[in-house]
Amino acid sequence: MDAAQEHRVRVLEVIPRGARAVSARFERPEGFSYLAGQWAFATIERNGEVLTRHLTLSSSPTEPFLEMTKGMTGHPFAEAFRALAPGDELRLRGPLGRFTLRDGDGDAVFVSGGIGITPLRSMARFAADTRLPTRITLLYSARTQDDLVFLGELEAIRRENPQFAVCVTLTRPGPGWEGRTGRIDRAFIERKVPDIRGRSFYASGPPAMIDAICAALAEMGVPGEQVRREVFTGY
Ligand SMILES: Cc1cc2nc3c(=O)[nH]c(=O)nc-3n(C[C@H](O)[C@H](O)[C@H](O)COP(=O)(O)OP(=O)(O)OC[C@H]3O[C@@H](n4cnc5c(N)ncnc54)[C@H](O)[C@@H]3O)c2cc1C
Repeated sequence: MDAAQEHRVRVLEVIPRGARAVSARFERPEGFSYLAGQWAFATIERNGEVLTRHLTLSSSPTEPFLEMTKGMTGHPFAEAFRALAPGDELRLRGPLGRFTLRDGDGDAVFVSGGIGITPLRSMARFAADTRLPTRITLLYSARTQDDLVFLGELEAIRRENPQFAVCVTLTRPGPGWEGRTGRIDRAFIERKVPDIRGRSFYASGPPAMIDAICAALAEMGVPGEQVRREVFTGY
C-alpha cells in the first residue's frame, strides 16, 4: 500500500477533550497501517471551502479506529473540525512522518507542550497495548488546566503500564491547581529524570518550545541523535 494514499473516512464519534481541543474518531480504512506518532493531511470541505491541515493520528495502531485531535484556535479549520458529526466524511492523505516510537531505542522521555501531546498519546497507548518493556517518562506542560488534553487517558495508561510515568506542569495555573507549575527546563528535566543517560527524547509541541527543549538537552550533553522532535507549526 502506498504510504501516503488518500482515503475518504467517515466520522464515528466526536469527543471534546477539555475546553480547548476536540477529537474525532473515524472508521479505519481496510489495510490502513501506520506507526504510532505518524500524521496525515486532513481535508474538510465545508460550505464550498476546502480546508487542509497536518494532523497527527492520536490513536494507536493497536486501536480499531483512527482518531485525530485538534486544538481549538477559533480559525476556520478548527471550527469545521469541531462541527464534524457522525457520518460526515473527510479526506486523509497519509500516513506520513518519521516521529515514531522505535524498537531498540531504549528507555524514553516524552516531552510535550500543549496539543503536542497527540503523537505521544499514540505512542504511550501503543507501548501499553503491546507491553513494550521500554520505560517512558512523559513531561507534559500546558498553559492552564483547560489546555490539558488526555489527562484521564494518560492516567489510565499509567495504571496499565508500570513502565509509564507522567509529570504535568502548568505555566499559567488557575486557582485550585495544586500540581507543579512553570516551564519544562533543564532543572525540571534533571529533577524528573535523574537517570537520563542513554534515554531517547521525543519532543513535540509548538516551535518555540521545541527550540528551548532542544537547547536545554544539548546543554545537558544529550547527543543530538537521541533527540527526535515534531514541530507543530501554526501555534
Ligand atoms: C507534523 C504536524 C503534526 C501536527 N499535528 C497536530 C495535531 O495533532 N493537532 C493539532 O491541533 N495541530 C497539529 N498540527 C498543527 C496544525 O497543522 C495547524 O497548523 C494548527 O492546528 C493551526 O491550525 P488552525 O487551522 O487552527 O489555525 P490557522 O488558521 O492555520 O492559523 C495558524 C497560524 O496562522 C495565523 N493565521 C491564520 N490566518 C492568517 C491570516 N489570514 N493572516 C495572517 N496570519 C494568519 C494564525 O494567527 C496562527 O498563528 C500539526 C502540525 C504538523 C506540522
